Amino acid sequence: MRTWIEVALLLVAVPAMAAAQNQAKPSPKIMPKTQSSEAVHRAALVIDTHADTPQRFVDEHFDLGEPLRGGNLNLESIHKGNLGAEFFSIWVEPTLYKGQYARRTLELIDGVKQQVAKHPDRMEFVTTPAGIEQAHRDRKFAALMGIEGGHSIEDSIPLLRQYYALGVRYMTLTWANSNGWADSSGDIDDKAVPHTKEGLTEFGKDVVYEMNRLGMMVDISHVSDRTFFRTLVITRAPVIASHSDARALCNAPRNMTDAMLRAVANSGGPNSKGGVVQVNFFSGFLSQAYHDAQKAIEPEANKAIQEMKDKAKAEGREVTYSEIEKIQREFADRIPRPPLSALIDHIDHIAKVAGVDHVGLGSDFDGIGGQLPEGIDSAADLPKITEALMARGYSAEDCRKILGGNLLRVFREVEQVAKELQAEGRPRITEKQPFDKPQK
Ligand SMILES: [Zn+2]
Repeated sequence: MRTWIEVALLLVAVPAMAAAQNQAKPSPKIMPKTQSSEAVHRAALVIDTHADTPQRFVDEHFDLGEPLRGGNLNLESIHKGNLGAEFFSIWVEPTLYKGQYARRTLELIDGVKQQVAKHPDRMEFVTTPAGIEQAHRDRKFAALMGIEGGHSIEDSIPLLRQYYALGVRYMTLTWANSNGWADSSGDIDDKAVPHTKEGLTEFGKDVVYEMNRLGMMVDISHVSDRTFFRTLVITRAPVIASHSDARALCNAPRNMTDAMLRAVANSGGPNSKGGVVQVNFFSGFLSQAYHDAQKAIEPEANKAIQEMKDKAKAEGREVTYSEIEKIQREFADRIPRPPLSALIDHIDHIAKVAGVDHVGLGSDFDGIGGQLPEGIDSAADLPKITEALMARGYSAEDCRKILGGNLLRVFREVEQVAKELQAEGRPRITEKQPFDKPQK
């Protein structure tokens, strides 16, 4: 309720304000009320958290300066799509490279660094949120790295630390394979594969703690539901899903339930602003129809891949991931692509369930056999996502968050938590490691 004095003041003030407004000259720089989606996209710092292009760097000697040749990412498409930063996935195929996980990990890391070295005028190797922003100001594409699959550390915390030292800034605890200390959604129903009792072993908890302490983002894409929830209980920093979709829209075991989406939004300590789910563009995780069609042709595709492997073995060589991907692509091309709206539906769903501060982009470019929704063929098509989001009523501010702002916020907080943990100087890891055997 207003007092009579306030009312009296208002009576005096209102005519005075009206007079002032009448005298004011129209501003020469009136901002348009609605920015075009093109302008919003151009002005945004766009960050994608998952591309498997390092396989191409190493196996095909692919150079980002070359034409796409069936891939999704090169310097031209990066420029056209205004992609500011990419987390290149350091993914070691667990069967092909058995016994050589660390070697393959290092070769893929080198592959990313060689690309940066070849294009110093257009690219920059970056390991911090501030570095991403600086590269953006310098009009350079920021290259970062995340490891996909905890098997890369070969049960060794010292290896984890050295990967951090080489610039790796996230690690998915598993890929499609359980690794003894964390379980994967990819084989959780396979009785022949040993699994943990509670989602993480004691060693697995140490891995998460050490990632928190180093400032390496904990990535829960690919893990089993139990490993997911166990990780969220123990992590001191907010987590990311570098490339995951919503299970409510497409029932794939690797997609996340609404409870999981909310848990990511609430992850981190009591003062945390929460983590982020970066939407995967893979048609098989976006569309139920595509997912089902793919399941139906899977046995035939696997048979073709096995035949190729056997043939290569008879010739005395190993097949590469690129060769396997080629066959997967041939089979996938038989299934009609879902519309772009399928991808937008997932962003929209996660924004509604977890909040618009907890969703972003994790394309999985170059890792999904070109199985992308209609209209998305390369990084050059990223502006179409902003256009579609704005058509659905997302504001320019919302779009900036989804395109990269949310990931930057989480990355900054992970750095901050690392500083706090390092100041605590907890001896837990250094006392127990490195020579304790992981608990199976
Ligand atoms: Zn993946």
